[in-house]
Amino acid sequence: MFPSRRQFLQQTLLASAGMLFGGPALFGAGKSEITYKVKKGDTLSAIAAHHGVSVADIQRRNRLKGDRILVGQKLIVPVAASNLPSLAPIVAATKQIRVDHDRWRYIVLHHSGIEDGNAKAYDAGHRRRGMEHGLAYHFVIGNGRDSGEGEIEIGPRWTKQLRGGHVRSTEVNNTGIGICLVGNFEKRRPSARQLESAFALVDWLRAGQVSPKHKVTVHRWVDRNHTVCPGRHFPYGKLKRFG
Ligand SMILES: [Zn+2]
Repeated sequence: MFPSRRQFLQQTLLASAGMLFGGPALFGAGKSEITYKVKKGDTLSAIAAHHGVSVADIQRRNRLKGDRILVGQKLIVPVAASNLPSLAPIVAATKQIRVDHDRWRYIVLHHSGIEDGNAKAYDAGHRRRGMEHGLAYHFVIGNGRDSGEGEIEIGPRWTKQLRGGHVRSTEVNNTGIGICLVGNFEKRRPSARQLESAFALVDWLRAGQVSPKHKVTVHRWVDRNHTVCPGRHFPYGKLKRFG
């Protein structure tokens, strides 16, 4: 979750410009299905081609009789493991920018506290709450509702290497990469796919994008006594792998 409005207004940020949210970037090692939300202009055959499967495969898996699909409809796409999207789009987008490696000394995990939303929706919400540069996090990992389950969206704070606005601590906002998993983990556990994506992203960030002295942490450990983020059901024990 993000800090209070007062905290937002305290943010002093550098240049702002257009928004960039990365394209789909799913990571789901070994998994063979993804959830795809139908967008305007999509056709069943285009969705099938994009994921390297047949129209019949999608029809069978979703019990569709014909080709008719609706905007916003969720389809289960039975992709072959080798067709699963990877971190490649994140890596490619990062190659276009100059990463300020020495600066990034924290990687901070969050939950959004709500099941709705994606990078774009949170960006709008954060702007409404007075946050000049919008989306407070650097990355958002979907839950399958408004973005793919495990889909990693890149926010402009990563592509522009801007400080975050995701914690109260000024030091950690200045030097911390914020990763938000969509959902309320006070009520449920993050899905396996969300965690796979989060940990894959963290592994990749640690392998050269951040200072060698970085620390992987969670919001509640940074802003002690101010938040339960990322929730009681987050598997904190799994963070031990990051030392
Ligand atoms: Zn948080």
